[in-house]
Amino acid sequence: MNLENKEEKHKISEENAEKVKCLIIGSGPAGYTAAIYAARANLNPVMYEGLQPGGQLTTTTEVENFPGYPEGVTGPVLMEDLKAQAKRFGTDIRFGLATSVDFSTPLKHKITIDDSKIIEAQTVIIATGATAKYLGIDDEKKYAGSGVSACATCDGFFYRGKDVAVVGGGDTAVEEAIYLAGLCNKVYMIVRRDVFRASKVLQDRVRKIPNIEILWKHQTKALFGDGVVEGAILWYQKGTPEEKEVQIKIDGFFLAIGHKPNSDIFIPYVETDEVGYIKTKGVSTKTKTEGIFACGDVMDPNYRQAVTAAGSGCRAAMDAERYLSEKIG
Ligand code: FAD
Ligand code: NAP
Repeated sequence: MNLENKEEKHKISEENAEKVKCLIIGSGPAGYTAAIYAARANLNPVMYEGLQPGGQLTTTTEVENFPGYPEGVTGPVLMEDLKAQAKRFGTDIRFGLATSVDFSTPLKHKITIDDSKIIEAQTVIIATGATAKYLGIDDEKKYAGSGVSACATCDGFFYRGKDVAVVGGGDTAVEEAIYLAGLCNKVYMIVRRDVFRASKVLQDRVRKIPNIEILWKHQTKALFGDGVVEGAILWYQKGTPEEKEVQIKIDGFFLAIGHKPNSDIFIPYVETDEVGYIKTKGVSTKTKTEGIFACGDVMDPNYRQAVTAAGSGCRAAMDAERYLSEKIG
């Protein structure tokens, strides 16, 4: 048999597919909580962590609102704690990315990992979260890694004493601006409306910081610089009679305009809304395909918090356990 032939290789791995009761895709608060519950229910869960083990919270510093940590906790420590708890009950945690799925046969759902290995799962818990959005202007790609970043806590250190801008007006943008203000000389916030979307407590905090300047009703037109970002050209009041261009000198341009749910590979086996959030049935985590459950930010356009993601991870594992006991006893 010619192993160079991709189709034959695929056939062989499908025949030798590893069979599991419960596969968890994703290792954020939703995935780890699902793993804790699934492991304690004897579902012997296998988890694939994806490209960001620990999920979004590994990119942040202080988490003050996750219950059980009265003094707060850093995102990476919180995720290590959740991982340790999932491992304690026997979750098999592996590095790897689900690259395609075939959910057409109940109790024999096929998931391809890293385009090579195939898993056959009786139940699947989708906990793939969400990914940072970009504005879609060409200069974001041109200066990627040379001044453009979507993670202030990861890259802020490189801009100590410099001037930077944060785009967005939500909780993430405000938190990132506050974090950067502690490192940088000056932080501009580029906010497209004249109000924040962020929570009141964060708004109050950011307004008191002297080296943060909020540029209301501004949008980004372009970035410029010789190989690295040296500044941005902004529109003020774009599309109105007052529209004008404004130039700011900056070394770092941080995007904080929200996230896109990581649901693409599961279509058409799940239904999504117009943004891509997976729709689930009623208060359950059931998707339109039997044996497939979704939890966390990938199915939650409203709350998108660590604790709500964890809560829905618990529900997904319980839904999977109940489904299996109904199906196979
Ligand atoms: P995520 O944390 O997004 O994890 C998704 C996981 O899926 C990752 O491990 C990824 O590697 C994996 N994955 C994706 N695709 C695949 C694939 N194809 N195959 C395998 N694995 C895959 N919330 C709070 O409650 N408090 C806070 O203080 C707070 N601070 C935040 C700060 C920042 C900067 C950000 C961005 C968010 C913050 N949030 C906060 C929101 C919180 O991080 C999210 O609500 C939470 O992480 C969602 O958890 P999740 O498990 O659904 O997904
Ligand atoms: P978000 O709440 O969706 O806010 C996105 C922000 O970016 C909004 O201000 C939005 O403007 C702006 N925006 C979107 N597209 C844009 C574009 N093309 N150009 C310019 N601006 C654009 O996203 P988030 O701030 O990342 O928060 C996501 C979730 O995580 C939320 O539920 C949040 O509460 C949670 N979170 C919580 C904490 C915390 O509790 N401490 C910290 C971080 C995140 P408009 O307002 O005009 O739409």
